[in-house]
Amino acid sequence: MHITNLHTHSLYCDGSHSIEEMVLSALESDFDSLGISSHGPVYDETDWNIKQDKVEEYIEEVNCLKEKYKDKIEIFLGMELDYIPGIGFSDLCLSLMKRLDYYIGSVHYLGAFKNGLMWTVDYNIEELLTGIDESYEGNIRKAVETYYETISEMAERYQPPIIGHLDLFNKNNKDNILFDERENWYVEAVKKCLNTIKNTSSTIEINTGGIARNNNKEQYPTTLILKMIKERNIPVMVNSDAHTADSIAYKFKDMYKLASDIGFEHLTYLTKNGWKKQKIKY
Ligand SMILES: [Zn+2]
Ligand SMILES: [Zn+2]
Repeated sequence: MHITNLHTHSLYCDGSHSIEEMVLSALESDFDSLGISSHGPVYDETDWNIKQDKVEEYIEEVNCLKEKYKDKIEIFLGMELDYIPGIGFSDLCLSLMKRLDYYIGSVHYLGAFKNGLMWTVDYNIEELLTGIDESYEGNIRKAVETYYETISEMAERYQPPIIGHLDLFNKNNKDNILFDERENWYVEAVKKCLNTIKNTSSTIEINTGGIARNNNKEQYPTTLILKMIKERNIPVMVNSDAHTADSIAYKFKDMYKLASDIGFEHLTYLTKNGWKKQKIKY
């Protein structure tokens, strides 16, 4: 199998290791290719997005490492870009897309606090609930539905090569504190979103980052949702959303097996000549 991970973070955003340390870890794990996907820049800078004035340095560094390791591993220049409700991708992100080998389209932001600061679905539960109170009058269902509608809109308008952590809301849904994913309205919201995605060229990632970093019981998206994805024949790939070098291939074998057990036969991967599919072997 072509072993790869296209979702990795580094010191340019909220990762703990340099890009080169991530590359060396990928080499140790016998990877064939590796994608570098720093959180893209946002206008109101945060401590988890790349700073606008670091973007050129980032691109240059990835390109240098591509050259340095070209005989050992194929490195791709990517970013995880934020699609924001009511805004979409910023002009900054749209212009960057043209310079990247690929990008991951992700929805983290879902609204603004009354003080104007944007909040994300993956902050801690207290902040999330405050955000839902202030932007959605405390209506969790409305917030979750808006989240999936935002992903649908992103898929329809841009067909991102990869759609990041489809059910990120689950990060804060320990013990079903927000919702039970078997509830009818939730299943319908997810299905509606998947019915849009299935008519695009996007691949949905199976992301192990929540298990590695947040003790989640399941990957993103959950097995329940992965079955709905399979029913619609939407392509998938396995990524670890690595924020540390040692999680570069976190639970990959388990995910290959899970995907195969659900009935997926192929995984998407990136090559110099574009996107391809490979048979799952583990
Ligand atoms: Zn993300
Ligand atoms: Zn990420």
